Amino acid sequence: MAGNIRLEVVTPEASVVSEDAQIVVGPGTLGEFGILIGHTPFLTTLKLGTLRYKDANGVEKFVFISAGFAEALPDKVTILAESAERRRDIDMERVKQALKRAQERLASKKPDVDYERARAALQRALYRIRLAETRS
Ligand code: ATP
Repeated sequence: MAGNIRLEVVTPEASVVSEDAQIVVGPGTLGEFGILIGHTPFLTTLKLGTLRYKDANGVEKFVFISAGFAEALPDKVTILAESAERRRDIDMERVKQALKRAQERLASKKPDVDYERARAALQRALYRIRLAETRS
């Protein structure tokens, strides 16, 4: 079916994307999914990864997603993410500091370190760096 689907990417802090898209491809926990207008409704959880979409002009865009949920309706996709930012908005200084902090926490022997949390922060930082450095 021809036409665009509405894409909304929302975090607890902000609306990150509110735009018409030709196609949306997201990192579902059960695998990557693609959505066009007229898609059968579905709901999925999202893992750390990249949300890709083609805007109404066919320009491909990339959004970092930490984790969350996607709801697809025939004319609309809503992404609720713990954190998300457009690739071009990734702040490399900030992400390098986050990486350093996580590495230091994981290397420390302090009893009060939450290793699970530090590992998750490390994964986010590494993924952001990889995405920011990808220029396709
Ligand atoms: P930090 O310790 O730097 O906050 P984090 O991985 O813990 O890193 P998140 O909890 O994933 O950060 O994100 C918090 C908010 O900050 C989100 O709105 C996210 O989009 C934004 N954010 C985090 N890191 C960056 C970055 N390097 N560039 C741009 N925005 C970022």
